[in-house]
Amino acid sequence: MRFEAPAGYLVVSGGELVRQGMEGGRSFAEYRQDEPGKYVAAAVGRFADLGLRQEGRLAVRAFGLPRTREQTQSLLLSTEKVMAFLTDLFGPCPYSFMNLAVLEGRTPGGHSPPGMILIQQRPPLLIGRTALRDDPASFYDVPGFFLAHELAHQWWGQGVAPQNYRERWLAEAWAQYAAALWVRKLDRFAIWAWRHTDAGPVNLGHRLGHLRGDPQIYRAIVYDKGAYVVHMLRAIVGEETFDRAIPAFLAEHRFSKAGTDDLREALEAASGKALQPYFTSWIYGTALPVLRYTSKTEAAGSAYRTVVDVRPRNLPGPVPLQIAVTTEGGREEQTVTLAAEGGHFTVTTPRPPRKLEINGDRALLARVERGR
Ligand SMILES: [Zn+2]
Repeated sequence: MRFEAPAGYLVVSGGELVRQGMEGGRSFAEYRQDEPGKYVAAAVGRFADLGLRQEGRLAVRAFGLPRTREQTQSLLLSTEKVMAFLTDLFGPCPYSFMNLAVLEGRTPGGHSPPGMILIQQRPPLLIGRTALRDDPASFYDVPGFFLAHELAHQWWGQGVAPQNYRERWLAEAWAQYAAALWVRKLDRFAIWAWRHTDAGPVNLGHRLGHLRGDPQIYRAIVYDKGAYVVHMLRAIVGEETFDRAIPAFLAEHRFSKAGTDDLREALEAASGKALQPYFTSWIYGTALPVLRYTSKTEAAGSAYRTVVDVRPRNLPGPVPLQIAVTTEGGREEQTVTLAAEGGHFTVTTPRPPRKLEINGDRALLARVERGR
């Protein structure tokens, strides 16, 4: 693909930059991308080629504007690290040449076309001057979150494309989950998910944003609740199984479309578990689990036995649940399997319990209530 621009400007697109220069007073750039893409994107600006970093079979070239030079160089290093992390998680990047272009804008933003990543950053003068509205999709205050989200779209969105607008979560929830794993934060998703879950199911996709004319609803449900559902599915099938099944799923559907059923079937085949009830509740439904528990502690010889009784509502099937008891001497954590109809669990501690926590690791997107 060859692009031309007025002198002083450079066009950044996806793929390997094979040639660039001046011809007849105009600048030109030629890119070669061997992998298929859904579309071609190009950014035109006073870009300078700031260098290439290659790690294994993946090469990343950075392009910065005169004012984003420094940020671009540091983003290039971060990009390399995030890409290595995502490769571990999802398998090889669908595109072997990536171009990173860094722009300036009032609102931070990004776009992730095939083989390319555009990051829009706030000019340093604006940072701290004007507050950005709290948003379900962009945790502006968490460094690296946005970059990881956009880069993950090379796998989810480009490498594999959602079948239709209802399957949007196959791109956004997964990009969001990958970003959360990268920054090790998931807790804020729960707040957004609970705030808007009644508005409609994840599977309503883009239409969620039009329900009340509030685009935050779409992002809260498709991005954040969706990411949490991915997290729960990972725990249900087991991390090891999940981490094997997902790269295989992505490889199988590479450069084609996939839907929720394809994903469910892949996870079912890998785990031998029936997952339809979870998808029915969490992707096609709106209800989220509520766990009501009671507990009783009694002395058992020289130790203390705490029996916890958990009664769930809206739980589609068995899930791993963490129960933690803190005593003066330490913390006793157990991960049990909670059945849809509930159960009771015993935690024995050498000292009297001071604090009991149900779902303390937030593995479940659940509301926990203490009963009497
Ligand atoms: Zn996204």
